Amino acid sequence: MQINSDLHVHSKYSMATSKSMQSDIMAKESEKKGLDLIATGDALHSKWLGELEDNLTQIDDTGIYQLKDETSNTKFITTTEVEDNQRIHHLILIPSIETAWQMRDEFIVKNMDADGRPKIRMRGTEIMDIARDYNCIIGPAHIFTPWTGIYKSYDRISDCYDNRMADFVELGLSSDTYLADRIDELKNYTFLTNSDSHSPWPHRMGREFNTMEIKNLSFEDVRTSIKDNDIIKNYGFDPRMGKYHETGCIDCYKIFNIHDAQKLNMKCDVCGGVIKKGVKGRIEELATSDVPIHPEDRPEYRYILPLAELLSSIHNKGVMTKYVQSRYERLIELFKTEIDILLNVELDKIEHVDMLLANALKSYRNNTLNVTPGRGGLYGKVVYD
Ligand SMILES: [Zn+2]
Ligand SMILES: [Zn+2]
Repeated sequence: MQINSDLHVHSKYSMATSKSMQSDIMAKESEKKGLDLIATGDALHSKWLGELEDNLTQIDDTGIYQLKDETSNTKFITTTEVEDNQRIHHLILIPSIETAWQMRDEFIVKNMDADGRPKIRMRGTEIMDIARDYNCIIGPAHIFTPWTGIYKSYDRISDCYDNRMADFVELGLSSDTYLADRIDELKNYTFLTNSDSHSPWPHRMGREFNTMEIKNLSFEDVRTSIKDNDIIKNYGFDPRMGKYHETGCIDCYKIFNIHDAQKLNMKCDVCGGVIKKGVKGRIEELATSDVPIHPEDRPEYRYILPLAELLSSIHNKGVMTKYVQSRYERLIELFKTEIDILLNVELDKIEHVDMLLANALKSYRNNTLNVTPGRGGLYGKVVYD
């Protein structure tokens, strides 16, 4: 079967997260979104684990959980993100809540419950050792993020893990398959696209997600799906929208090639402002090819924007305004899930409800988005025809 999964989120016990990041709201909002399987997040935090035990029940012995009151069809998989002693983030999928309790004692940490995403005083490879001992699935999170992604410190993923391969890499909001597959070593990795959401609302949950082929809904079959790269499609942001995508001047926003910028000592030749290296610049440093070379089993990467954000940008109203939210609810009432609206519902049906939305969706679905890329701290912008 095919499922839509979002395997990286945070609970209300992580820094800067919504108070509503609790399992019942997460499950219900994710069902609206169209997600079948979501991460619990923060599974090394004792209070969160306690709440998960109170509210969730394991389905047979699958390592997959659902709300005890069965008010949502969206299921959970036990996960955590940890920060290592180099400030690199790793995503760990854990076989069960019980295993998560057992693992807690293995990590060297000042206070495991200080943050849903704990700061572990160990190297990445030591964290991998523990994860492997407990039969977890582990890989680096949002690999190109300048502050906490693995590529800020290493030129090769396996250098972080004592020459061992991770089980996957997570692309993160700032990259896509076209950029990542310019780096030769990544051809051997399954790419995951997850939201890293800090709030349960559907413009955050599943803003990136995976469609994966899976035998049954179980932890072991999730493992197999990732191992065999049975990801059917990755969905996520167009990285050009990020505010540090291109290398650019932080004052006049002129875009530079990374090598030219370095020749200028990262000082703008137009206005003298500081040039900030973009994510693409880092990828160009690591790239072994000017164009992406996709391995045969690489799934297609499709750009999406959360429906509420799309409505917000085409109607020029805030995401949380009544205007946008009531339109959103109306669309969900008519067409069931957000993912269906973004990807599948016939455009002529949507035209009857919202002409502008149908037009915008057309550019996304046909991959003909016209984007002015972000740089120097200025977000990228979609130009709709
Ligand atoms: Zn992270
Ligand atoms: Zn400038």
